[in-house]
Amino acid sequence: MAGSIHLKATREKSVLRHHPWIFEGAIQRVSGKLNSGDTVDVFDAKENWLARGAYSPSSQIRVRVWTHDKSETIDNGFFIRRIERALEARKHLIASQHTNAFRLVAAESDGLPGVTIDVYADIVVLQLLSAGAEKHRKKIIWAVEKCFPSAKIYERSDVSVREKEGLNLQDGPVKGNDFGPVIIDENNIKIEVDVREGHKTGFYLDQRDSRVLSSKYMKDARVLNCFSYTGTFGLYALVNHAKHVINVDVSSLALSQAKRNFELNECDMGKAEFVKADVFSFLRDQSTNNESYDHIVLDPPKFVDNKASLKRASRGYKDINLYALKCIKPGGYLSTFSCSGLMSSDLFSKIVADAALDANRKLRILHRYYQAPDHAVSSSFPEGFYLKGLLCEVQ
Ligand code: SAH
Repeated sequence: MAGSIHLKATREKSVLRHHPWIFEGAIQRVSGKLNSGDTVDVFDAKENWLARGAYSPSSQIRVRVWTHDKSETIDNGFFIRRIERALEARKHLIASQHTNAFRLVAAESDGLPGVTIDVYADIVVLQLLSAGAEKHRKKIIWAVEKCFPSAKIYERSDVSVREKEGLNLQDGPVKGNDFGPVIIDENNIKIEVDVREGHKTGFYLDQRDSRVLSSKYMKDARVLNCFSYTGTFGLYALVNHAKHVINVDVSSLALSQAKRNFELNECDMGKAEFVKADVFSFLRDQSTNNESYDHIVLDPPKFVDNKASLKRASRGYKDINLYALKCIKPGGYLSTFSCSGLMSSDLFSKIVADAALDANRKLRILHRYYQAPDHAVSSSFPEGFYLKGLLCEVQ
């Protein structure tokens, strides 16, 4: 062990509840000469052993806990056990849902702080976002190769939170070549995923169940898919017999990929439109022109980056929901989402309710959307919950 961390009196409580983060302010003293990512033992103020974690000198989250088991060492075996456990935890999803793309490791919620591993058919994408994950990169890659011997591996550690950990952004092939777009199969729908340039690790796996659920309310519908990215909500709509779908996104790259996805699935292209526009002004124009839809999907990017931006973000959510509601036919549906972890479900529901009042519409909430179960949240890590949504009937 490189060294140890000794907590201030009473600051052990969250560690005892197995929360994986230890903040700088909870630490009384650090002993030993520690480098970024080094493994440390954590003690309470009475010198009782609490946990073992990774030290991160640049981050306010000074330690991320690997284990609460004193006998467990952070070696190759540790990573392989964690990854095998994560795979086992997803066996029902893989067996019951028709998909060859899933999140294998959801970082803290799977006991591997800072480590995200996604599988897209024969490609495994790694994202290492903490000092500890970086320190053990070789072991993690070794464990992935052991579990998926024939897979290609690509790294997408190009997320700015790495800078908070004192790490450079990094991406590129780890094993194999030919990382051109891969076609995944999700519920018998083919979707092109670009692991090199796509958002996150390439695709929004977390919305898999929302796509299924929303499409049940789209038969014969005129659908407006806002913030469409590669068009998947719209694609599910057409495959499930929607009458017409308009996909709106600000990125032409995303829209051309969306178009390819519709073609891949042999959709009737006469029923699909791809519009490059800013959703805020697009929706305002639609409402001014009295356009009306049977189902509108609002799946915007993360509006809230920190607590200071919550108020401004709330206005953004209110705006798009208000104008969308004005454009929904009586008896139609709104599927509305927020993927901002700092936006609570309660606040989000209140914003949508306020938007309905202002739009002079009544809503019945039929379902609450949640991140797909391969993104499940550990009960000791509530921060893992970020994606929420409402499926509302508009009266
Ligand atoms: N619904 C998608 C994911 C959406 S991600 C899916 O299930 O795969 C958010 C998308 O919003 C991105 O494609 C981004 O290009 C787009 N975007 C961000 N701001 C926008 C804006 N103001 N107007 C239109 N599109 C926007």
